[in-house]
Amino acid sequence: MLKTKNYEFWFLTGSQDLYGDECLRIVAEHSQKIVSELNATGKFPYKIIWKPTLIDSVSIRETLSAANANPDVAGCIVWMHTFSPAKMWIRGFNEYKKPLLHLHTQFNRDIPFDTIDMDFMNQNQSAHGDREFAHILTRMGVVRKTISGHWTNPTAQERIADWMRTAIGALESRYMRILRVGDNMRNVAVTEGDKVEAHQKFGWEVDAYNITDIAEYVQAVSDADVNALTDQYYAEYDIITDGRDVAEFRAHVAEQAKIEIGFRRFLEENNYQAIVTTFQMLAGLKQLPGLAIQRLMADGYGFGAEGDWKTAGFVRLFKLMTAGKPGAKGTSFMEDYTYHLEPGKEAILQAHMLEICPSIAAGKPAIRVNPLTMGEREDPARLVFTAKPGRGIACSLVDLGKRFRMIVNEVECLPQDKPMPKLPVASALWRPLPDFATGTEGWLIAGGAHHTAFTYDLTSENIADLCEFFGIECVIIGGGTTIQSLKRDLMIGEVYFG
Ligand code: MN
Repeated sequence: MLKTKNYEFWFLTGSQDLYGDECLRIVAEHSQKIVSELNATGKFPYKIIWKPTLIDSVSIRETLSAANANPDVAGCIVWMHTFSPAKMWIRGFNEYKKPLLHLHTQFNRDIPFDTIDMDFMNQNQSAHGDREFAHILTRMGVVRKTISGHWTNPTAQERIADWMRTAIGALESRYMRILRVGDNMRNVAVTEGDKVEAHQKFGWEVDAYNITDIAEYVQAVSDADVNALTDQYYAEYDIITDGRDVAEFRAHVAEQAKIEIGFRRFLEENNYQAIVTTFQMLAGLKQLPGLAIQRLMADGYGFGAEGDWKTAGFVRLFKLMTAGKPGAKGTSFMEDYTYHLEPGKEAILQAHMLEICPSIAAGKPAIRVNPLTMGEREDPARLVFTAKPGRGIACSLVDLGKRFRMIVNEVECLPQDKPMPKLPVASALWRPLPDFATGTEGWLIAGGAHHTAFTYDLTSENIADLCEFFGIECVIIGGGTTIQSLKRDLMIGEVYFG
């Protein structure tokens, strides 16, 4: 299982010194109560840390700078209990660079109609304090998420928890290192991209190595280690030999164990969190990495095939964002393969030659060894399964030459009623929203790739917020999309980002 850092989010309460000590004492009491009760719900993936009320520009700047500098802090949640003249926040936000949530709430849920007086009004002024605060953020162009609602409201709480996951993706992205084994698949356009721009926008270091560098690590793996991991495979998965000789079958599987151990050591020693391979550059490898890559993905590594480092990066980010999420159904690299065009039941069969993450499997995956026409190597072992049904998102980052565009399609994974016994790869069958024709037409018009980062466990809102933080265009094709609305979005994007 993927472990993420023990991040924390700071809860900052804004006010000013005009209210007097007694009022500020109550403000602090209120914000402390909110923080402790939010933490006690157990709904938040990361701890919320209360900070003393901010009442002047010096303490504001010091606190925001400290949040910036502290590697444990993933972001700040800010709320104006009372009125906090917003010029006081300018210096702080000139420096602040981490994810920001403006929580528009108030301590009391209801107006105390029978007892409300001027003192109460003066002490509970979020309705206008938050407007003053938001005004300066908007004027300064500070990217932030805004969530409105009483802090005990379950929907508001779920949205805060969800935003925390987006914030983790935004922050972790800055430190991601992607290993390219070889280069892009020859002549393919959509998997290409500007790595310098990606470094600036997302923070990614994208480094190429010769396959022989990694193959050395694979060759160096001991037989004992290979045997132990192969035994683990046999214990963990079903085995479908398809009539092959049992010993010959195991030798093929063992080759993937060797690749997994070699690749994993290289990734760990060289501090990479995502990997791309290409079947055109295999050098000393006996098989195209299949089962090995599937297991690395299941452990939280990003992956993209055919040199697709852009998709690998987002698979990794989605793995981080969804880590430990209760009821998570999985995240994988995916590829649009072939269509089912039966009227009324149109769907897209999703698969790849080998490398689909078993985290999305509906049942127990099975190991099979079958020929692969690509790669000109021996038959690779791979995990075969079908994906869980349910709602998910498929995301494709494309490089338009001058800039990046993220394209998100909300999809509905369908139960796979009819078995596909001759299909020797993992697969999913999904219907794009809002319907097959609009979904596929929209995807083509937006320039989306055949590769995607797919997850059940995030929504298009997560991705839109993430892209806003990165400062890139995000086009969503979902339930309410029409071709005309999509074209309008693309035109607006062209003006804004172009
Ligand atoms: Mn592919």
